[in-house]
Amino acid sequence: QGAGGLLVVLGAGESGTGAAYLAKQQGYDVFVSDFGAISDKYKTQLSNWGIRFEEKQHTEAEILSASEIVKSPGIPDKAPIIKKIKEKGIALISEIEFAGRYTDAKMICITGSNGKTTTTSLTYHILKNAGLNVGLAGNIGKSFAYQVATEQFDYYVLEISSFMLDNMYKFKADIAVLLNITPDHLDRYDYKMENYTASKFRIAQNQTAADYFIYCADDPETIKGIAEREIEAQLLTFSIEKKVERGAYLDQQDLIINATLEHFKMSLNKLALQGKHNIYNSMASGITSKVLDIRNKTIRDSMEDFQNIEHRLEFVGKISGISFINDSKATNVNSTWYALESMSNNVILILGGVDKGNDYNMLKELVKQKVKSIVCMGKDNNRIHDAFEDDVDVIVNTSSASEAVQVAYHLATKGDTVLLSPACASFDLFESYEDRGNQFKQAIKEL
Ligand code: ADP
Repeated sequence: QGAGGLLVVLGAGESGTGAAYLAKQQGYDVFVSDFGAISDKYKTQLSNWGIRFEEKQHTEAEILSASEIVKSPGIPDKAPIIKKIKEKGIALISEIEFAGRYTDAKMICITGSNGKTTTTSLTYHILKNAGLNVGLAGNIGKSFAYQVATEQFDYYVLEISSFMLDNMYKFKADIAVLLNITPDHLDRYDYKMENYTASKFRIAQNQTAADYFIYCADDPETIKGIAEREIEAQLLTFSIEKKVERGAYLDQQDLIINATLEHFKMSLNKLALQGKHNIYNSMASGITSKVLDIRNKTIRDSMEDFQNIEHRLEFVGKISGISFINDSKATNVNSTWYALESMSNNVILILGGVDKGNDYNMLKELVKQKVKSIVCMGKDNNRIHDAFEDDVDVIVNTSSASEAVQVAYHLATKGDTVLLSPACASFDLFESYEDRGNQFKQAIKEL
């Protein structure tokens, strides 16, 4: 056995495979176990690195003899093996917690129900342009653990999901960003909002007065959560609704940041990322950058030339005066609300997929104002019909991306926008939200 004893990694995706690599490098005896099939890419990597693994089973005797276990975020606490691990009292940690032990880099950690990937990518873009030696990881790109094993960054911008936070204990964020808290993934939190909120607030654990906690002053669930807790870090906030003491706010059409001595100002119409939700995301990235002492000009230039990421309110093109927008990443109701909020034309809305217990009520007002017709794309559309039958001209059922695009195109007239913003997960008809977005774009090309 290696220096660290037996370390078991559960789940062999990007996160688990990276954790296994780092553990091996650190002298552990490593065993990877995945209850499903492991993709060829990761099997090849594990074999090449000489790491033992199994798939489609969990060999309990070996797993339960580990000194510590790294759990991939996709494995729910309800899984039988997790129950047994907990009964035995073996330490169960996330990849981020594990890899955090092996780097001294400054950690900028971004969480929230929506906007994580956008804010993480924008922050990384600014820091990189400022010349900082910075890595991008978490729920995005190459795993954090693999990068810790192979790179020497001074800073990391990490996208952190609540599933990762659930198994983080000693890890500390130097700068923590909590974008918002709205219902999502409640199936993993005993359907209790307070459990989900508590998970999100773990982003602030272990912080001291030398650290920063950045949050949205307009988000009721966050404000409630802060009132119920003691947060040691320095608080910085952002708001669209009011001026804030320290953080970011709007003055007419300008975004102002007063988080540090030198204030920052930028006209909203210069921002590459448009839409109300993206003002929030830009504010969070901007405050983070000011705290890191980045020059105003660098922040402004970076916010102006940032290329939006695929599947997030991505403009696909215009055909016969009809615009097509791909927001396939909108997998919950709140993100669809923001997508609709940012639309200025009449909308043909493509909605539907796997309903996670959605409450469509919050969309009703915007649907009445902006949506002409709804195209349902999914196996079970009853709840969408029930929710909106009185609000739009027509609701049509379709069962593939190409059918949905064709129907939407026929319903639209010049000047309208066809928006794919499903408010649901994609697994009924597609492999992933990326697959859904790609099929949507392909169908537009074929029109
Ligand atoms: P995440 O990584 O948290 O899932 P993304 O940045 O990928 O978030 O954005 C997903 C979708 O959520 C976007 O398509 C957009 O419609 C919506 N969205 C983005 N930022 C916000 C925000 N700050 N508040 C609410 N919705 C947002």
